[in-house]
Amino acid sequence: MSPDATLVVGGGTLVTMNPAREVIAGGAVAVAGDRIVAVGPDAAVRRAHPGAELLDATGCVVTPGLVNAHQHLTGDSLARSCIPDLLAPGRSIFEWSVPLHGAHTAGDDEISALLAAVESLRYGVTTVIEAGTVAHPDTVAAAMARAGLRGTIGTWGWDIEVGPFTAPPAEVLARQRAVVEAHPRGGLVEGWVTLVGHDLASDELLGGAADLARSLGTGLTMHMSPTRSDPEAYLARTGRRPLAHLDRLGVLGPHLLLAHGVWLDDEEVELVLSTRTALAYCPWAYLRLGQGVTRAGRHAEVIERGGRVALGCDATNAGDLPDVLRAAALAVGLARDARVDPESFGAATALELATIAGAEAVGMAERIGSLQVGKKADLVVHDGRHPAWRPPGDPVLNLVWGTDGRSVRDVVVDGRVVVRDGASTTVDEEALAAAAVEAQASLFRRAGLKGAGLKGAGLKGAGGRTARP
Ligand SMILES: [Zn+2]
Repeated sequence: MSPDATLVVGGGTLVTMNPAREVIAGGAVAVAGDRIVAVGPDAAVRRAHPGAELLDATGCVVTPGLVNAHQHLTGDSLARSCIPDLLAPGRSIFEWSVPLHGAHTAGDDEISALLAAVESLRYGVTTVIEAGTVAHPDTVAAAMARAGLRGTIGTWGWDIEVGPFTAPPAEVLARQRAVVEAHPRGGLVEGWVTLVGHDLASDELLGGAADLARSLGTGLTMHMSPTRSDPEAYLARTGRRPLAHLDRLGVLGPHLLLAHGVWLDDEEVELVLSTRTALAYCPWAYLRLGQGVTRAGRHAEVIERGGRVALGCDATNAGDLPDVLRAAALAVGLARDARVDPESFGAATALELATIAGAEAVGMAERIGSLQVGKKADLVVHDGRHPAWRPPGDPVLNLVWGTDGRSVRDVVVDGRVVVRDGASTTVDEEALAAAAVEAQASLFRRAGLKGAGLKGAGLKGAGGRTARP
């Protein structure tokens, strides 16, 4: 006998993503507290839980919450579509991202994180792995919890000479340990060890971060090889490619989630597979920034060979929408096109990456990623009355190819309804939007930046075909 449910999401078509990948038409999910306590035919589940609040999903499709394995919650959120479009990679980072992050106050962090969290939830994304560029982790964790988003949090981790929040290795590691201890594993928001990665950490910091993550039983994430520049830098500094060097330092392993891994050679692909290192694959960012995924990307091969891959949406000016369904369609579309093969990498694979496979890659498959009894109650109701669902066809095909986050109606995280009828139930979105406008103006002033804003500068100054600087 399952405990009394507090909430029943009933009447919808359940795409469970359980081991048998069952789809249950006319199904219901019962939730008690933060857990799923029943999944089955609607009438039977409702009969067993007569006192529960009903969220009617009749005519809708219900999925597990989606997983975003790489998302910057601060910095770019307040500079959405303000960075000129045709900039060399170094210029966008050093002229924009670095000053923005350097000028961020705790208030900016809070507003940024709320913007990103509310938007993510509205697209059905219920778990986010923060990418590790947060100045005020406790503030951001509180904002995630307030919006109702599950995820992980870390803080700036690099020991280069100049940059915001850089420090010697021992100090960086002490800072990381404090975040993990303040946000223990298993909570709605848990602490991870986060390095910036790339070629922006000493060997002492890289090794120390891996040891720290292992000893605290938590995850480690960092950026690596979205472009050719990391392999070039590691070859020049160490004589080895990045993953070969990380392997020698003992950094690779199942605790590690590497963001990107676009430019990997054969040996590095083997290392990813043999060490069970996970990759956060952010295909929109590579297309948006012209990083070469169509030429060099090996993610499809890693997936096919049983490697651990999750999807990410990166940042508001690199991938832009934190919409995992949109990333899922692109990920499998790129794989099919590269192979000129429409018989593999279908919608089922895409939805796995967005849910259960993504959950496995971020080390949370025992808690999230499928609609199963005992798991955390994170689920999404996709609106059957939305034009994208009319007339209804195969739900998995339509989730991936026919729609994206736009038709999400309701979202439950940890048993709590955090989006209802397409709007946040936890945050006043109008007040947040007004606060964001104010915070943006003040942030840009302090950082010495001029944003394109709503003035349309992108067409002439940044986006026009003759305007390349
Ligand atoms: Zn990133």
